[in-house]
Amino acid sequence: MENSPELDLINQFEYDLQEILGIKVYFSCEKSNLKFSLKEIENILQLIPPEHRSFIPRIYLVTYFDKNSETKGRHLASLSYVIVYPNAFTELEEVLIHEIGHVLWDRKLSPSERVQFYETLLQEVPATLRIEDELKRHVFVLENFANCYMFFLCKIFDSQKYPLIYKFILSLF
Ligand SMILES: [Zn+2]
Repeated sequence: MENSPELDLINQFEYDLQEILGIKVYFSCEKSNLKFSLKEIENILQLIPPEHRSFIPRIYLVTYFDKNSETKGRHLASLSYVIVYPNAFTELEEVLIHEIGHVLWDRKLSPSERVQFYETLLQEVPATLRIEDELKRHVFVLENFANCYMFFLCKIFDSQKYPLIYKFILSLF
């Protein structure tokens, strides 16, 4: 296991482990900060197709807050673990699906599919190209993918405004 400060932090706490729809879900034993239940998590995971779920090794429902208190979720890039923070409870579905979107970008999409998404984004969101800093533009693309995946599954995707992106996301199912 590699060095990751976030992983060290995770491992300072204890968890109840349950397998939900094929995903190992680590639910913090200490629950005083947590305002959601495992049933809610399960209901959200039901929205994700089984093939997509198979790319998600673990979800951690942690009891501590991120040092940036705004952060509601994240994923550990190399391990693809999804982390949900206590303050995600107001938009649990959006946060969890968004983070799963990030993992799918890393693990499911082929290099050519990533290029395809980027090109589609350029066509329908020309502002993408105006981000001159390459790293920022890359992050913008990643965040947009995760959001598009979430918009699609939460049935709030504006397919009239972004027909090509919609078609691309649809092709992943
Ligand atoms: Zn994100």
